[in-house]
Amino acid sequence: MRIVAALALTFAVAGFAPAGQNARRPVLEDDAVVDRIAEDYVKLVLALGQHDGDYVDAFYGPSQWKLAAETTKVDLTTIASKAAELTAALGREREPAEEMSRLRLHYLQRQLSSLAARVRMLKGERLTFDEESRALYDAVAPTYPDSHFQEILDRLDKRFPGSGPLVERYDAFRRAFVIPRDKLDAVFQKAIQGCRERTLAQVALPPGERFTVEYVTGKSWSGYNWYQGGFRSLIQVNTDLPVYIDRAIDLACHEGYPGHHVYNALLEKHLVKDRGWIEFTVYPLFSPQSLIAEGTANFGIEVAFPGGDRIAYEKAELFPLAGLPAARAAEYYDVQGLVDQLAYAGNEAARRYLNKEIDAAKATAWLERYALMPHDRAAQRVRFFDQYRSYVINYNYGKDLVRRYIESRGGTAEHPEKRWAEFAALLSSPRLPSGLQ
Ligand SMILES: [Zn+2]
Repeated sequence: MRIVAALALTFAVAGFAPAGQNARRPVLEDDAVVDRIAEDYVKLVLALGQHDGDYVDAFYGPSQWKLAAETTKVDLTTIASKAAELTAALGREREPAEEMSRLRLHYLQRQLSSLAARVRMLKGERLTFDEESRALYDAVAPTYPDSHFQEILDRLDKRFPGSGPLVERYDAFRRAFVIPRDKLDAVFQKAIQGCRERTLAQVALPPGERFTVEYVTGKSWSGYNWYQGGFRSLIQVNTDLPVYIDRAIDLACHEGYPGHHVYNALLEKHLVKDRGWIEFTVYPLFSPQSLIAEGTANFGIEVAFPGGDRIAYEKAELFPLAGLPAARAAEYYDVQGLVDQLAYAGNEAARRYLNKEIDAAKATAWLERYALMPHDRAAQRVRFFDQYRSYVINYNYGKDLVRRYIESRGGTAEHPEKRWAEFAALLSSPRLPSGLQ
């Protein structure tokens, strides 16, 4: 297979390669044309990153490309026309016979149209929540009426009888399951070990893969994976708010194994190193790739810890380490199972808020009532909406789409080996959200 370094030979580093000249380059194979477009796509993502600080989530391609983006600072109009040019060039390509090459072509086309939408947004175009998620993430999450959540809340109300808002009764119950700050790292490291062992038993990870963990404050998210390239990640855990015991496994799986860290490492191994597909050295956050990333990271939790395995592990390992009552683990997860059914409440709050039907105070109150988030957490979530907007659908709708896709291919809970195999294959391919349906 080609190596990545060979791609840089043909074109000047700072500028973009001329696109759409495949007719004049009959000696090049089809792949070589797509490789050139892919290189320009990476440079375009880096250029847009100069206008949007959150856009480039990871980049481990040639460092001089990043430097060139910083010094050149291409304007948004030029970025938009370059994206259109690259899209047109891709449109002239033949549909490849090999599935992975076909997925690659469609991936580049869709990532570029998402990039173009992000440019329009930065230039002031207003999209509705659903228009935005379709344009950026290639998916529209289902809408639920308030009554859908109210039914679940009614069941929880019976579980926590009493007066006062349900969120307060639920929060009082949950306070007994906060990981003490001085035990957080030990518990989290143990959770990572459990996630890693289970993943390693099923997925061939590149040798030398590893990550470091940092504890941070003042963020709108609860955890973040910063992929560094070379099969390494930096994982940050936000300790602004209490960290409940379920977050240990959730975060260790989601950010680490078999979630973001594994996803990025497998893309680097299979697509960048083995195939020389340079476009995967950059990860634009507001793009269809994020639905696959978040959906697999969330679904990966139950792939790694199916059924009762999770409670058994938590009772034996995590609750004792955290000094929490292991005898109450089943009770805690019973309640969490019910609360998890409120997952789409966050989307509804975001949709109404970003469509300007409700303001920040109302969105916070809505999350307190329908998503059972205590006030501080609800306020943090609204700050997340401000920063990441319709990105919220990638977590819950992404998880549902990934589950449906893997189960439709026989990767059901009853066939765990097949489920792991389908999961690893999805993590190693450039499949689009619309390709999961
Ligand atoms: Zn994530």
